[in-house]
Amino acid sequence: MSFTTTKHIELCCTNCGHRMVYEGRQTTCPRCGETILEACYDLEMLRQTNWVDQLATRKLGMWRYHELLPILNTEHIMTMGEGSTPMLKAQNLGVMLGLKNLYIKDERQGPTGSFKDRQASVAISVLRELNISEAVVASTGNVAIAYAAYAARAGIKLWAFLTSQVPGEKMREAALYGAEVIKVTGTYDATKAVAARFAQSKNLFLDRGVKTIAAIESMKTMAYEIAEDLGWRAPDWFIQGVSGGMGPIGVAKGFQELIELGLADKVPSIGIVQSEGCAPMIHAFKAGQRIAVPVENPQTLIATLSTGRPGRAYEILWSLMQEYGGTAETASDEEAFEAMRLLARVDGLSVEPATAVAFAGLFKMVRSGMLKPDDVVVINCSGHTLPVEKHILGDQWARQVDVSKVGQTISLPEEGLLSALEQVDTTVRRVVVIEDKLDAARLISRILQTRGQYRVEIAADGMSGLELVRETRPDVIITDLMMPGMDGFQVIDILKSDETLSQIPIIVLTAKELTPRERERLSNQIDALLQKGGFVDEELLQSIIKTLQ
Ligand SMILES: *Cc1c(COP(=O)(O)O)cnc(C)c1O
Ligand SMILES: [Zn+2]
Repeated sequence: MSFTTTKHIELCCTNCGHRMVYEGRQTTCPRCGETILEACYDLEMLRQTNWVDQLATRKLGMWRYHELLPILNTEHIMTMGEGSTPMLKAQNLGVMLGLKNLYIKDERQGPTGSFKDRQASVAISVLRELNISEAVVASTGNVAIAYAAYAARAGIKLWAFLTSQVPGEKMREAALYGAEVIKVTGTYDATKAVAARFAQSKNLFLDRGVKTIAAIESMKTMAYEIAEDLGWRAPDWFIQGVSGGMGPIGVAKGFQELIELGLADKVPSIGIVQSEGCAPMIHAFKAGQRIAVPVENPQTLIATLSTGRPGRAYEILWSLMQEYGGTAETASDEEAFEAMRLLARVDGLSVEPATAVAFAGLFKMVRSGMLKPDDVVVINCSGHTLPVEKHILGDQWARQVDVSKVGQTISLPEEGLLSALEQVDTTVRRVVVIEDKLDAARLISRILQTRGQYRVEIAADGMSGLELVRETRPDVIITDLMMPGMDGFQVIDILKSDETLSQIPIIVLTAKELTPRERERLSNQIDALLQKGGFVDEELLQSIIKTLQ
């Protein structure tokens, strides 16, 4: 991105209204302990700067709205072109349903095939801004995939905890991007608890799902796009299949901001749909309740929507639906699959089951008369299922944690949980990389990150490399040969002449054409020699594993 800005963002407590300056890491309100904080921007200033005119000149993509996203410096943005997805006017489906203005917001067209790409782009950008290089996420599938892809580009190591109900294709997709996939035999809510415990015990950054500021902030960009596409107007309805509810909460917030900016006339009414076997929000809404009764054992094949405990997010959604109008429906798995086939056949859209749930709900909302023929209706076509060829990954792509016998759902006895987590091998091996080219060092670090637990430290020249080795006593040293100042040959000589360091294995990674004499000299000192440019990651990894044995 060519533009850089520094901006002032405040956080506002969704419970008591307390305001504080946004610094990136805050998770709770210091006054009341609330864990959902909302980002607030200087909308008045934006209104005065002719923002809309500027937008017209900007490239497509979600970050065209960067002033309203929680990144302090735009240099940290990690984008893959997410956002600006098409609003397709439903053709045959609109006719079938008698809806003249049915729009399908085609979020399948994100880089990893679901609207979680928006969330991943903002969340990973925030991690970059905070200089965080390792993170933990719990997911029903798509978050893991999207985060894994963006984390790969950002050089961030990702631990993705997935409930075992997630289809294998999705787990493999996340593994393909280099995430550490941990398959938890248990519900999604139990999986979240396991991930949180893991992050805590390893002192790693934990993504808090809908509660993470990036979540709602990213989702609201759908509102901006919808309004812009409709000529800066709000539709009458926004409909989505929901799990944690961040989509509709984000979209409502987006329209609230647009109203303040003078760019929308209202917030659309919200239609939510859940799987019959896991519909805590729908049951609560229909019963007129502000608090949802948890579903402890979701009975649905549609893992994407298997949040049994929506918690505070539902309260927020409930008040939005009270204020702006709303409706809620359930759909059985069979109804969803039927909608899936229909949508593919009549409008050429192949969607994942969680998205089909929304369409099955839409049919019911039309039938019940909630949606009127002239209403402008936007439905979130939230995701596409992308299969992964099994043979690409082999069979070692996931680690396993079984908490199904430890206790019911998320009230896990502590020892049971800890011993389950011990099944995840997290032995850390320390690696010092001495390399003056930062991009090469980053690449090495990324390769190691995705293949196990390596703590990689980088030194940019020979002198500081030696210092780092003395300080950290790594398990292995990877060094370049050509570096300014002290070169690799000298570094190796010094290491080998120091009794306390001479045992540490050394791997040389170089682009230099070695003379026979140089080869000879190195052969007695080092454990592996790899030619840069020609090396593949498997080779590097195998050399390291071999030298560690
Ligand atoms: C996450 C997800 C949902 C549910 O989203 P929330 O707004 O968090 O409830 C629906 N469909 C797909 C494809 C998803 O990935
Ligand atoms: Zn508060």
